[in-house]
Amino acid sequence: RVVPAGVVAGIALALAILLLARRQMSLASAIRHALRKNEFFLVYQPIVELATGKWVGAEALLRWRRATGELIGPDLFIPVAERTGAITKLTERVLRLVQEDTGRFLADHPTFHVALNLSAADLLTTTIVDLLDQLLHRTGARPSNVLVELTERALLDIGPARKVICDLRARGIEVAIDDFGTGYSSLSYLESLELDYLKIDRSFIEAIGTRAPTSQVVSHIIPMARAMGLRMIAEGVETREQADFLIENGVQYAQGWLFAKPMAFAELCLALERMNGVQANEDLAAQVTQ
Ligand code: C2E
Ligand code: MG
Ligand code: MG
Ligand code: MG
Repeated sequence: RVVPAGVVAGIALALAILLLARRQMSLASAIRHALRKNEFFLVYQPIVELATGKWVGAEALLRWRRATGELIGPDLFIPVAERTGAITKLTERVLRLVQEDTGRFLADHPTFHVALNLSAADLLTTTIVDLLDQLLHRTGARPSNVLVELTERALLDIGPARKVICDLRARGIEVAIDDFGTGYSSLSYLESLELDYLKIDRSFIEAIGTRAPTSQVVSHIIPMARAMGLRMIAEGVETREQADFLIENGVQYAQGWLFAKPMAFAELCLALERMNGVQANEDLAAQVTQ
């Protein structure tokens, strides 16, 4: 007898779901293991002031190096960590890594900031505020040395998030909405939150200068953000053409491979020293020629 195709498809689907669930379970336990084995580390991508090319800050991005040498990106493990509740432990680790990496650097560089990505679960309690206070206390950094990035998804459960955002901003820690344009936030919703920065998602930057329908979106986001008093950071700027468009349209800051890829904090410090050296020489040259 022939088994009906529907039954076969049903069994195949059930198996696929089972495999996915198992994969997620094993990845979740692998994350816990990796925390114990210190397999997580941070790379830092410079945030550039478009008008001057100056590096004004850097975004901390999480990486996982497995014992096998395999490098796993956050797009793979953050969603699993979020679904399985491991994310708050990961965020704690991120804060500790920032503390270890930056040491006294932030205390010595009052205008430089490190941007941190938080998830929805991090905003459910005010523990995160205490953790950030500890980070500031232990490194001697000022609140203005830290910027917190929240995705629209993290802001969906707005009750508790609102309290955390208020607490952070009351301290002088600035808050950005990340990947803007990919979620569900309406204008009025955004306006009801007090935020400092809007990060324009890479998908819209990619579309600049192309015929894609999304190429129009930036032209709408930019004046809107400006009207709301938000400063803007463009994500994923890869070409000069994109950067010029952003400058012409009054976007102040950008991140992307055109300027720099994410790097170890020590490397970032070296690059900054080199650039400051160049800057100092240029200032001197300007004085001499005056
Ligand atoms: P994100 O916060 O939007 O970070 C920007 C992503 O764009 C990073 O990917 C960065 O490496 C990448 N990128 C930057 N410039 C360019 C460019 O010019 N071209 C292209 N193609 N890509 C560029 P990454 O590091 O893989 O991070 C992916 C996402 O994972 C982040 O997106 C963020 O949402 C999340 N994530 C990373 N670290 C953390 C963390 O510590 N905690 C949490 N909760 N999420 C994190
Ligand atoms: Mg981010
Ligand atoms: Mg982003
Ligand atoms: Mg993005």
